[in-house]
Amino acid sequence: MPLYGGIEAGGTKFVCAVGSGPDDMRGEIRFPTTQSPQNDIGQAIAFFQQQQAQEPLAAIGIASFGPVDPEPTSPTWGYVTTTPKPGWAHTNLAGALKDALNLPVGFDTDVNGAALSEHRWGAAQGLDTFVYLTVGTGLGGGGMVNGKLLHGMMHPEMGHMLVPHNWAEDPYAGYCPYHGDCWEGLAAGPALRGRWQVDPTTLPPEHPAWQLEAHYLALGLMNIISTLSPQRIIMGGGVMDQMQLFPLIRAEVHALLNGYIQMPQIMEELDRYIVPPALGNRAGVLGAIALAQDA
Ligand code: ZN
Repeated sequence: MPLYGGIEAGGTKFVCAVGSGPDDMRGEIRFPTTQSPQNDIGQAIAFFQQQQAQEPLAAIGIASFGPVDPEPTSPTWGYVTTTPKPGWAHTNLAGALKDALNLPVGFDTDVNGAALSEHRWGAAQGLDTFVYLTVGTGLGGGGMVNGKLLHGMMHPEMGHMLVPHNWAEDPYAGYCPYHGDCWEGLAAGPALRGRWQVDPTTLPPEHPAWQLEAHYLALGLMNIISTLSPQRIIMGGGVMDQMQLFPLIRAEVHALLNGYIQMPQIMEELDRYIVPPALGNRAGVLGAIALAQDA
């Protein structure tokens, strides 16, 4: 079984691992993402060089925060492009690994990576059209349509769709630096913190914050269901560790659709339609391994 290297490059941390799948992960390091890409990429390269000294790697996969350029024929393929994250704009992430390790490199968004791992080993096995969302320090979505990872012009930026915002009920302005109260601006982790002025993990499950959060998340899901007709929606990320959200979101989605889509997935099996990742918080790094396998 060939061994692969994977990097889950997140806005807050890097996870680098070596393995061939969920049952065979052999080495891992994690470190906070700094404002020096050179430093962070250097640490990742050193880790893989060390691993390679023991056993050769067949390829590297990178599932990265974005926006990124995932188009293989583009001169800036493998770059983190216009990110507001300090120090990281226009960083040649995949190219640096490719040059240093002389291995094939698979590269995609963090959410497309997680979608790929859930398709290979998790909650999306056997499906060809589904969405993977992360709700954490940001809100992002990826997935597959007709068996292919979603790309298009660049890649979807589902977190920046606009959803109805009732200012009278929720005067919080949203925090997206580009749009204020877009979906991410209203519903990602920093919005919970900004709206309620506390660490959201300290809010009890019965706090009204979660009902409002479920409402916003369901508004976005309504748009995604209407646009892509996914066979399943997988929701991961730190905010979704609040498991009380799942039944609240399902009830809101059911109410918003209002009987319009008469499919068993929606009418009877909503608890199998909107689900957490089967791979849990390993979906990201396993996504990087899956990208390496496909490289
Ligand atoms: Zn936005």
